[in-house]
Amino acid sequence: MTATAPITQDMLTIPRKAPEGLPNLVGMTRDAMREALIAAGTPEKQAKMRVGQIWQWIYHWGVRDFAQMTNLAKDYRAMLAEKFVISVPEVVTRQVSEDGTRKYLVRIAGGHEVEIVYIPEEDRGTLCVSSQVGCTLTCSFCHTGTQKLVRNLTAGEIIGQVMVARDDLDEWPIPGAPKNETRLLSNIVLMGMGEPLYNFENVRDAMKIAMDPHGIQLSRRRITLSTSGVVPEISRTAEEIGCQLAISFHATTDEVRDKLVPINKRWNIAELVEALRSYPKVSNSERITFEYVMLDGVNDSDDDARRLIKLIDGIPAKINLIPFNEWPGAPYKRSSNNRIRRFADIIYKAGYASPIRTPRGEDIMAACGQLKSETERGRKTKAQIAAETGL
Ligand code: SAH
Ligand code: SF4
Repeated sequence: MTATAPITQDMLTIPRKAPEGLPNLVGMTRDAMREALIAAGTPEKQAKMRVGQIWQWIYHWGVRDFAQMTNLAKDYRAMLAEKFVISVPEVVTRQVSEDGTRKYLVRIAGGHEVEIVYIPEEDRGTLCVSSQVGCTLTCSFCHTGTQKLVRNLTAGEIIGQVMVARDDLDEWPIPGAPKNETRLLSNIVLMGMGEPLYNFENVRDAMKIAMDPHGIQLSRRRITLSTSGVVPEISRTAEEIGCQLAISFHATTDEVRDKLVPINKRWNIAELVEALRSYPKVSNSERITFEYVMLDGVNDSDDDARRLIKLIDGIPAKINLIPFNEWPGAPYKRSSNNRIRRFADIIYKAGYASPIRTPRGEDIMAACGQLKSETERGRKTKAQIAAETGL
């Protein structure tokens, strides 16, 4: 390495793909980055400080070019450019819905594709992030669950989704400009493709990066992880991530939940509810969100609403009713508006908030449960789903 080694990356051609073999700094924990810098020749005594500097460039300023890291010596920058990359997923397509929702299809290593959805609201902007390519689970109402090919996303690919969205929203701070108090991307929900608790470590590391006070700086209260009910990982989520928790509950008897959310056969409603009881205290969060998809004639009766109230008794909770979003070949229908309102009313009268989630971005297939990569489409047939779920 010499002081004149070429620095090949520049902001106009933001590197989107990691050249073979070079480690990507995006997604490394602070500890991992420190180790990597030491292995690349950084004196041990300086390593922590260098991590702090590089971290701030990448996650606070959104810089992708080592040459711009002006508080580092020139040859140190050249060394970094030779040994590392700063790489985020490549945006393949970007669609904007009539309601302002944006959907990005991004490509990651191996040519896989995942979807990210940005949902602007009056008081916030929420990014719905994917944790896996596809999903190993086969919830019978979920489009993602029909996609066969699955791999876990790396921490870099998960936090990279947030960085891609900030690029598109043009939301990296400008040096010297006053701090923007209202953020366009103010919340993250792990509600895209995949089961986040089947990719625990990578999701945890990525969310730690999102929360780091010297970078993207999102409060843990603005991050919500949604799980279908991977019971053994719930206490770890409280202890090691501490974010808000949402549970894809969707049914009030094991018989129906076994069919809708097949992971219920492994950990049933009683075990799930038990695991949830200690979550708010351990994570110091206010309440758990129970997601409940409204399927016509399947889980939407008055009795269901009453059973739901009984089941969650004693858990600080909010029940988020999700009108079913249809997708080609889906075996269900959305409950009528009257039915959803009546269900919401029963829950509300029992003292729980029961907001009905407005479907967003339906015209671009960006709504809950509609995500599925075009390239991996159609791998599982309706018959396969029926065989897997018994429906
Ligand atoms: N795998 C995780 C997170 C992703 S799904 C989980 O299951 O929790 C995000 C939410 O959308 C979940 O509550 C899921 O059950 C719901 N969902 C899936 N398909 C849907 C559909 N077609 N219509 C409405 N909601 C759906
Ligand atoms: Fe996977 Fe969640 Fe879809 Fe179930 S609802 S198949 S867990 S992404």
